Amino acid sequence: MVVEQKLSKSQIEGLASDYEARTAEETLEWALKAFGDRVGLISSFQAETMVVLDMAHRLGLPVRVVTIDTGRLPEETYALIDRVRQRYDISVEIIYPDMQDLQELTEKHGINPFYRSVSLRLLCCDMRKVRPMKRALDGLDAWISGLRRSQSGTRANVAKIEFDSTHDDKIKVNPLADWSQEQIWDYVKSRDVPYNELYDQGYTSIGCSPCTRPTEPGEDPRAGRWWWEKGVPKECGIHVTLDGVHLMKEIDPDGRPRDSQPDL
Ligand code: SF4
Repeated sequence: MVVEQKLSKSQIEGLASDYEARTAEETLEWALKAFGDRVGLISSFQAETMVVLDMAHRLGLPVRVVTIDTGRLPEETYALIDRVRQRYDISVEIIYPDMQDLQELTEKHGINPFYRSVSLRLLCCDMRKVRPMKRALDGLDAWISGLRRSQSGTRANVAKIEFDSTHDDKIKVNPLADWSQEQIWDYVKSRDVPYNELYDQGYTSIGCSPCTRPTEPGEDPRAGRWWWEKGVPKECGIHVTLDGVHLMKEIDPDGRPRDSQPDL
């Protein structure tokens, strides 16, 4: 079914309910057929979106792959992007931050302001990630993410198909919502999917170089993101709205919503 008109809230809820019991491949196939080139896989080239890209390839369906180059990515991520282009014979749409934004940010606050305060970190994420993300979604009706519920408390309730209230109620498709970390790596290893070499150095979630460190065994998989911050969710604002004070009131010191404490 090709989706040509904006879906209503009840239609989205119906789809979410229907696809909850279906596989990641079925959910992805629905999105790619329903929206064609009006849907994009927004990828940071972590293992999850590599799985989704490989699934699309195996389904034989074209998928637009879009990424945001914050300008602070690890060399290993850049190397992976080129390996992926060759392996799947695809182009990758790369969205960059606005140069004027970056000039203002660095002139006013320095090169690495994020270590000094949460608000400066959120400002940097806003300029390098959130604003480019809005531009990345221009012209798209829907986007596909690699979100999984077990990644963190802030992601515990994502549906496989939902409205993205952060981005003009575009349709957001999360085919891997109910996958575990083990399932991701079983898929990657069994199908020889290219992955970021930093995973072999103990990283369990990979973002910008200065804001990501490896995790210790038993730590939350996203504990290495902005590891110096306490009481703030491990999010940049792309997947959930982050607005400083409001955020601190609603999130506990482990980054979980106070009104729902999922068992991670
Ligand atoms: Fe800036 Fe760090 Fe956010 Fe990257 S992760 S945009 S470097 S604050």
